[in-house]
Amino acid sequence: MTDPAFPSEFVETSRLILQNDSTHKEAEALLDSWFREGLTRSSSPTISVSQKEAALAQWCAQVYKRGLRAIDLKTPAGDESSVLGRQDPAAVSDLIPSFRETSSESLLESVVADRDRGFFCVLDGGFLKHWKKWQLEHKDHPKVVVHTPREKTKTLDTIRAWAQKMPPNTSGVWSIGGGITTDMAGFLAGLLHLPHRSSPTTFLSASDASLGGKTGVNHPLFGKNQLGLFYPTEDWVVAAEHFQSLNHVEICCGLAETLKHVWLWGEEGDTSTHIEQLLRPQSPRPESALKALVQFNYKVKRAFVEADPFEKGLRKALNLGHTVGHLLEGLGESGWIPPLPHGLAVAAGLRFLMRSDLGWVSTWPEGFEKAVERLCQEISPPLPQKCPGHIDTENWETAFWRLLRNDKKQEDPRAAAEMQISFATPSFGHFSSLAVNSSSSSLSVPQQKISFSHLLQLLKKTDTLVV
Ligand SMILES: [Zn+2]
Repeated sequence: MTDPAFPSEFVETSRLILQNDSTHKEAEALLDSWFREGLTRSSSPTISVSQKEAALAQWCAQVYKRGLRAIDLKTPAGDESSVLGRQDPAAVSDLIPSFRETSSESLLESVVADRDRGFFCVLDGGFLKHWKKWQLEHKDHPKVVVHTPREKTKTLDTIRAWAQKMPPNTSGVWSIGGGITTDMAGFLAGLLHLPHRSSPTTFLSASDASLGGKTGVNHPLFGKNQLGLFYPTEDWVVAAEHFQSLNHVEICCGLAETLKHVWLWGEEGDTSTHIEQLLRPQSPRPESALKALVQFNYKVKRAFVEADPFEKGLRKALNLGHTVGHLLEGLGESGWIPPLPHGLAVAAGLRFLMRSDLGWVSTWPEGFEKAVERLCQEISPPLPQKCPGHIDTENWETAFWRLLRNDKKQEDPRAAAEMQISFATPSFGHFSSLAVNSSSSSLSVPQQKISFSHLLQLLKKTDTLVV
């Protein structure tokens, strides 16, 4: 039974957690205990709380890994118990927003107009250096935060700092920036149940992260995107001219997510020609290719999210290439290998799957294979990296396992004991029928589980990493 007071009670609790240090600490302690217990998204724990603590527990259940399946609350009297399902369906009815192409100039006008109507704006400082007009005319506005997106500061603490800066009569949130910015601002909007409008300024974010309603922050101890909400963006606006200011690697990162979509969906129209055009460094880049690929990615993502909004099954296919990708990214962040941008890590993850000769995947069109190889050439210094000599193999393997287990996609706690890692293994174009019927329930994601030691062998065999 869903609590009819939700989400107004949820929003009230959010306000307390965002504004009040002691309530925040209480929430943090409860969340930490769940992480330590290893609760997964499919857990539905029974917890004993006082009436006062019940709202806090429900709030935590909503944001823990984007929502526990349910919690059963027992109050001391023993006669009151309530079960809360994952999120209010009304709040997440349409996770994929309508899509609007615009120019940089008119985006700026919309944002300024909304800001003057009460929207709070979160801007990516890296992008803002290209938005000269804003810098000259709108610097230091009280309804604006400019931040430097970093995984390290993608935390609830930063969200709290923003919320404390937010004027009390705020009517919505605008985010302009890359994936970190839109994830965080979307989470803030979701916590307060305010409309969220966003414009991705990186090709990577436009290709993937800023679409689909996944919002959230990292947990400093328990990993990436461990706290969050499924929360829709009400208006998703893309000014493709912003992608001209990106460097070639940043374009390649978006192309990696695009190739992932091509693998799942199959080739369509001029997609491969557009990818080929953008693989060549040139200035200016063909805007028609950028726009066409943004539209293609939007269409594919929309079909998956509509078929499976809360990532119970089908949507997990979008993690293709990400298990090994996240592993490489994590090793980079921990200083084991040089840092690797997300998109290039995904490209290496796709190549790993293609080279892993286990018979779980089909053959790929020649152009597709070449494009993946071409992206991997952008990795500098080139993989394979070798395990640092001064660290013994046991520690190296522990670091690997910790990274894999913290990965938000590895949710089965038994996996830790059995050291099994599952991979989505669809053949090329496996999901092409989603193009016809996005609510197709007959489709499922082919999976393959391999042991941890087998993964280590494969990383070596496929020239992904020498361990
Ligand atoms: Zn990705």
